[in-house]
Amino acid sequence: MPHLLVIEDDPQLRAALVRALRDRGHAVATASTGMGGLEAAVTHRPDLVVLDLGLPDVDGARVLRILRAVSDVPVIVATARDEEPDIVAALGDGADDYIVKPFGSGQLDARVKAVLRRQGTGVAAEPEQPLRVGGLLVAPSAREVTLDGERLELTPREFDLLCFLARRAGQVVTRRELLAEVWQQPLGGADKTVDVHLSWLRRKLGETAHQPRYLHTLRSVGVKLAAPGDGVAGDGAADA
Ligand code: CA
Repeated sequence: MPHLLVIEDDPQLRAALVRALRDRGHAVATASTGMGGLEAAVTHRPDLVVLDLGLPDVDGARVLRILRAVSDVPVIVATARDEEPDIVAALGDGADDYIVKPFGSGQLDARVKAVLRRQGTGVAAEPEQPLRVGGLLVAPSAREVTLDGERLELTPREFDLLCFLARRAGQVVTRRELLAEVWQQPLGGADKTVDVHLSWLRRKLGETAHQPRYLHTLRSVGVKLAAPGDGVAGDGAADA
């Protein structure tokens, strides 16, 4: 299991990243400051560091240079500054990759795995086993979905959404949770975003809100992915 260190000062973003990365099979340590991050990097000897550039005490770029002086641990720089000079400077200072906020957990996970693969650490080489829910087969590593053997064409966001639900098949997931985990928007009040994507996904699964098979929307609670036949058992709430 890859050990990651997330250095991020925003508590909500940090919590969302930790949840998302743990769900994807990584062990995660965190630090909220640059100094704390450097200390943790030395103590925990992570396989990879996700480093926020905007930190309160020491600028992330400086953290990267100090880290590089003592360690060749792979670093992915996460930055809200999508300005090219910052990114170029970070790559010049030894970052292995970068990701611009806001980003989805699926994108981060893919970059983490790609960097680990390039490093040849082998820790990410084992593909995650496909998830089966009834006739639905979700392959996280290949990012492929089949329904009753037929390949479904999903957008990256639809895939992330379905994959997240498949990992929690049979459980109700709230819209807030989906916004935080799939969209990385902990404070988002835009429930419509989730609903719109759910309706697109539902269409691709060949079902409707009124006659759900896999995607069960529980009014004012959330949504649940379940195999046909398992979906309504016990929840008792009407599909909205
Ligand atoms: Ca920050």
